[in-house]
Amino acid sequence: MKEETSGAVLINTGSAFGGTNEAELFGITAEQRKPSILLHACCGPCATACVERLAPDYSITVYYYNPNITDREEYYLRRDTLLQFIRAFNEEHKDTYHVSYLEGEYDPERYIAKCGPLAGEPEGGARCDLCFAMRLAETARKAGELGISYFTTTMSVSPHKNYDKIRTLGLSLEQETSSRFLDVDFKKKNGFGRSVQMSRQYGLYRQNFCGCEYARYPAK
Ligand code: SF4
Repeated sequence: MKEETSGAVLINTGSAFGGTNEAELFGITAEQRKPSILLHACCGPCATACVERLAPDYSITVYYYNPNITDREEYYLRRDTLLQFIRAFNEEHKDTYHVSYLEGEYDPERYIAKCGPLAGEPEGGARCDLCFAMRLAETARKAGELGISYFTTTMSVSPHKNYDKIRTLGLSLEQETSSRFLDVDFKKKNGFGRSVQMSRQYGLYRQNFCGCEYARYPAK
């Protein structure tokens, strides 16, 4: 869908609209002609490589829904880092892409009520399964509510996250929403390495724990 010309990235506009000019007559932008996707993002660093990979082919709305970040200051720091990245990415690609942003409800009490009983579980265990399910189910619900064609999550970019679990969950959620799960494991094709590289490039804050207090201060 994209081609490189003189260093610039251009969207290939060959389409049922008969080319850019005719489409523009109807006020239809290149972004609007791409399928829409609600991309759940846990933080800015994880979003980087995922946004870069999807932007040529999808009209992206990043969805920050993370009640699992139990420390309020940390929650807002990650949110602001994510916004820092989106603004910089949009500025850098203003002639080709535009990434939108949406924030979900911040309700850590709901997360604690659900996952707190599993506080002693190791990272990657049953507590994390519930945590993934909570965030992905809300993403699927929101995508359906907004009439967005696809949903997926940046969580798969982390080498610590089991993609088979995310995939099974995502596909099962399709039954509860009009939106479809985009089956993509972002850690493949050096996705994690690219996210580290891009985080440096954009000067982003990179946290050293997953999100909840149970992973930050594990029981001895
Ligand atoms: S370690 Fe991460 S994925 Fe697991 S429950 Fe905590 S915030 Fe959620």
